[in-house]
Amino acid sequence: MRRVIDISAEQIAPSSEDILKQQGVPPGAVHDEPTLTAAREAIALWEHLSQPVGIFAEIAIHEFAQVYTGDGRNEPETPLPHIYQRADALALFAVTVGHDVEQEIRRLFETNEFPLGAMLDAAASVSTENAADVVQDKFQMHLSVAGGWDRSMGIMPFSPGYCGWRVSGQRALFDTLHPEEIGIELSDSYLMQPLKSVSGVLVAGPKDIFQFEDDFPFCSECATRSCRERIMSIIENQPKADTR
Ligand code: SF4
Repeated sequence: MRRVIDISAEQIAPSSEDILKQQGVPPGAVHDEPTLTAAREAIALWEHLSQPVGIFAEIAIHEFAQVYTGDGRNEPETPLPHIYQRADALALFAVTVGHDVEQEIRRLFETNEFPLGAMLDAAASVSTENAADVVQDKFQMHLSVAGGWDRSMGIMPFSPGYCGWRVSGQRALFDTLHPEEIGIELSDSYLMQPLKSVSGVLVAGPKDIFQFEDDFPFCSECATRSCRERIMSIIENQPKADTR
């Protein structure tokens, strides 16, 4: 199953609060009017320029093992192999909000319009993450329709460049998924173009396979520890596809 996902701007639109949080402003902080005006202006620009689209393609565990191994530069011990080898379903995925918004961010910085440029950059980052959530929901709905989903399951995304999966793994991922179909290219230094893109693997399986300790050697350099929140979300949340 390989699917291109049309994503509407409304589905992934960032709020002013999202944009300010992305820039490190604590939730509930009082903002001055110029800051809020810049955030609203960035949202209006983003709505005009964004071209969100995504793709996912199911992949068998033994095929993903080759993608994950890639050029053999991953850390020796990482959480992902322990999880994907016990999964019920896997899908490679990629999303982007397109080139136009990125060109406008670059133009704003080049013309010294830093506040608006930073706001638009934050809006593009938040909306790209939101687009990845939309593709994850579509994969979950696909599993539900196919009878491969129940309330004991969860889905967790993993991306090259994080948690011991080297960014050079993007090459094998691109060679298998071909996100060029939705306008995402990979540079020789493994950067995606547009930069506001996310790619990786969606791992679906029993909730308990996603429990792991954050004590790998590379975890000491991890600023976000985002795996803790993602694990809690899977354990606590009701599966969405079951309630639609
Ligand atoms: S602590 Fe950070 S690097 Fe370690 S597994 Fe969690 S998210 Fe990945």
